[in-house]
Amino acid sequence: MVTVEERYEHLEKTIRGYNISADLGQIRAAYEYAREHHGEQMRRDGSPYITHPLQVAQIVAEMRLDSESIIAALLHDCIEDTDCCYEDIAKRFGVTVADVVDGVTKLTRVKYSTMEEEQMENLRKMLFAMSRDIRVILIKIADRLHNMRTMEYQTPAKQKKKSFETMEIYAPIAHRLGLAKIKWELEDLSLKYLDPVAYEDIRQKLAAGSAQHGKFMSHIQEEINARLAEEGIPHATVYGRMKHPYSIYRKMYLQEKTMEELYDLFAFRVLVDTVPDCYNVLGVIHDIYKPILGRFKDYIATPKPNMYQSLHTTVIGEEGIPFEVQIRTYDMHAIAEYGVAAHWKYKQGIRGESGEASYEWIRRLLENQEDTDAEEFISSLKVDLFADEVFVFTPRGDVVNLPAGATPIDFAYSIHSAIGNTMVGAKVNGRMVGYDYQLHNGDVVEINTSKAAHGPSRDWMTIAKSSEARSKIRQWFKRERREENIARGRASFESELKHVGLNLSQVTAPDVLSSILKRVSFQSLDEMYAAIGYGGYTALKAVNRVRDELLQMSRAAALEKAAQEAAAAKAAQEAAKQPSLPRKVKSEKGIVVEGLSNCLVKFSKCCTPVPGDEITGFITRGYGVSVHRKDCPNADPARNAADQGRWIKVSWGEDVYESYSTSLEVVAKDRNNLLMDISAALSTCKVSVSNLNVHATADGFAIFHLTISVADSKQLEQVMRKIQQISSVMKVNRPAG
Ligand code: MN
Repeated sequence: MVTVEERYEHLEKTIRGYNISADLGQIRAAYEYAREHHGEQMRRDGSPYITHPLQVAQIVAEMRLDSESIIAALLHDCIEDTDCCYEDIAKRFGVTVADVVDGVTKLTRVKYSTMEEEQMENLRKMLFAMSRDIRVILIKIADRLHNMRTMEYQTPAKQKKKSFETMEIYAPIAHRLGLAKIKWELEDLSLKYLDPVAYEDIRQKLAAGSAQHGKFMSHIQEEINARLAEEGIPHATVYGRMKHPYSIYRKMYLQEKTMEELYDLFAFRVLVDTVPDCYNVLGVIHDIYKPILGRFKDYIATPKPNMYQSLHTTVIGEEGIPFEVQIRTYDMHAIAEYGVAAHWKYKQGIRGESGEASYEWIRRLLENQEDTDAEEFISSLKVDLFADEVFVFTPRGDVVNLPAGATPIDFAYSIHSAIGNTMVGAKVNGRMVGYDYQLHNGDVVEINTSKAAHGPSRDWMTIAKSSEARSKIRQWFKRERREENIARGRASFESELKHVGLNLSQVTAPDVLSSILKRVSFQSLDEMYAAIGYGGYTALKAVNRVRDELLQMSRAAALEKAAQEAAAAKAAQEAAKQPSLPRKVKSEKGIVVEGLSNCLVKFSKCCTPVPGDEITGFITRGYGVSVHRKDCPNADPARNAADQGRWIKVSWGEDVYESYSTSLEVVAKDRNNLLMDISAALSTCKVSVSNLNVHATADGFAIFHLTISVADSKQLEQVMRKIQQISSVMKVNRPAG
């Protein structure tokens, strides 16, 4: 019997073997702490409980993990199985160790019920996501390995259940992390309980043939050794092994063959110092034995996604027995056996594309890990993958994968839209929560439904994180609330229209409605309103399209009009050749420009003329005719002699606009309510104001600048008189120049 203390000594020795700076003081403290707290607890095999954490720590040390991992491994069952707590561990061994122990405890508490195949990948992802720190999952794997090694003391039901979990969840995770040795041990141990008959059959056949196999293997080993020595390849280690039972089992099953028909039960390994040596060894092997075509694989040039590197070839010896040879460097071997954890010496870049995106994170992590030491490397291996996903359980134990930040609403709709639509409450881990509760990895979520439920509310749309939930909620509103949607949609459409200065009657006018509906792709306005109402279409989008369409139509109309006018103008020109007839003139903006038809006209900003004012025109360079009041200083022809020829006669036509924009300046003694009085005066004159600003002078005067719309100079005079009558107003004038 190995004593507990001897086991501990062995652990220390293993640690010293790879980590000279390990904190052995703290490690011993952790060992003693765990031993004390587990006290009289026993394993099922009758050994003291402390042997379990010790053996788990031993496996963790064989993975060559850092001191904190060893300490956490020793303490890994303390929170779950003894009276000590997170705070206690944090105080004695630091927050990092406590976090790792806590993480392992959380993984231990995950309940796996029988699951469908497609659930497994989600569950593996969830374990990763819950781990945060890669050490958590590595310790959990070590824990599981030791439990599997001691599984014979459990009940048959528990053996089956644990073996199934191990095969489906832990072995694939070990594989993903490149822990080949642990992976196959987990698989073999699981097979032993999952298919005891087949396992026993394979084991017995291997045992029965072992003398013969041993002879064969040592013969091959000697042959290879001799040739390598001859060729002068230094430091080569050659050894043979049988394929492990699960890999034989899988091959028998997949290839539907008996064990005797399988042809690579034997595998040899050649370990050398350098990559060139690997290829030299390959040449030597192919020289001694006949290679089987199509069985050579170069994982050195193209490493496997879990960083595995090796040359594989299958050859046939004199006896006609085929066997596999794996050739790799010692460094590559360490990675193959211990996985990513053994990686800190690995400096070669990873070449080649695997196409297996699920491993991408390991590569990403490793790319940043070139010159760090073991301790640093391990602690920086934070598992940040799946940061944008969250994994939760249904009450039945199915795993549901949702976007990070998901709420019970997302969960409900991911199960079925009927669940979401009849939801009246949600429980997480047995406690009622609000609909906006953010789900965490591993939460068990239960949705309460009722036939009398009112259905989703509109704010669920903003609470839900998944587009799936949002679109299902929209669907519901679309179906269930048509009348309400139409009213809502119409209201927001109208208010959006108002923003761009349109009103509904412009849209519903019979001559435009059909092309507008075509533009927004709806059969009727009600349908468009309904879509806006349930959120399938936005009012803004609708209005933009409507406005575009109206603009396009008015442009088309303008073109049409211009074409007609051009024709009319041509006719007029013809007519003008007859001098006796009065000359026909066209006006633009109510202005007739002598001798020019259809020319661009604008009103000058300096004097803002209105109908009734005496006006004159100035032919600008490129912008048509600018119209000034005759009394505007800028209209004084004497002002710029060079431009004298540009002045042209203009007059008000008969087809003037309804209103013209013009400016006024009001000077007043400042007082309370002055602005209000001016506004009142403007509104009694029914004049609209488009701009108003006030400038208060230091000596107590206020100068107002107004821009108003009037029909003509008569109305303007009226307005000016009205303002003039207001008390304290001193002067009202039309600015010019
Ligand atoms: Mn344990």
